[in-house]
Amino acid sequence: MDLSELVVKTLDRRSRADEPLRIVQAGHPALRGRARPWTGQLDPELLAELVDAMVVTMRDAPGVGLAAPQIGIPLQLVVLEDPFADPEEAEDDVLRRTPVELHTLLNPRYEALDARRALYWEGCLSVDGWQSIVPRHLAVRWSAIERAADGTLAETTQEWTGWPARILQHETDHLAGTLCHDLAVPRSFVLSRYTERYADLPEAVRWLGLEGEITTLRSGEVEIKVPASR
Ligand code: ZN
Repeated sequence: MDLSELVVKTLDRRSRADEPLRIVQAGHPALRGRARPWTGQLDPELLAELVDAMVVTMRDAPGVGLAAPQIGIPLQLVVLEDPFADPEEAEDDVLRRTPVELHTLLNPRYEALDARRALYWEGCLSVDGWQSIVPRHLAVRWSAIERAADGTLAETTQEWTGWPARILQHETDHLAGTLCHDLAVPRSFVLSRYTERYADLPEAVRWLGLEGEITTLRSGEVEIKVPASR
């Protein structure tokens, strides 16, 4: 089946356009394949319909990102949006969580800007109900073909730090068949309802028996100190 047929079939499973799509769960092979790069396979109307459906699905979940493989479409396409962060509190937030406007990215790539890493709890709509502590580059430079709301496509490169950088890495990794939990600190995979008691990461180290660089974090810290290079 070609990509257009698969997209039409997926969208046709809904009874209405504002109905969310089904998000596949870990174990579904769609999450483990390598998504195909965008080469213009879908006509602009079908791409618009697919993107709209992904945004509806992300907001309904609710989540802060969704990659096409999560709805069974093997295409390098992600949507990101975090309206939940409070910009007033971003300064004091250890996660550097700032609001992220809606972005629709085709063929996204990222590279680390330096050696700094942040460790924190992360979940995935395709591993519903579970979380683990995932190390992420604190700052990344990403490039993609960005689709604007009016449907125009343009090459974009941006530098993001903190929480937005984490979302970008999570969604882009889906396109290579990687789930966040594949990258987790060993033994940190827990039901979401338990993460509250381990919001301070040294508590997780203590009660879950975690090892490695996470043990160097002090109370309230989430960023690994990287020695200055000489
Ligand atoms: Zn995910």
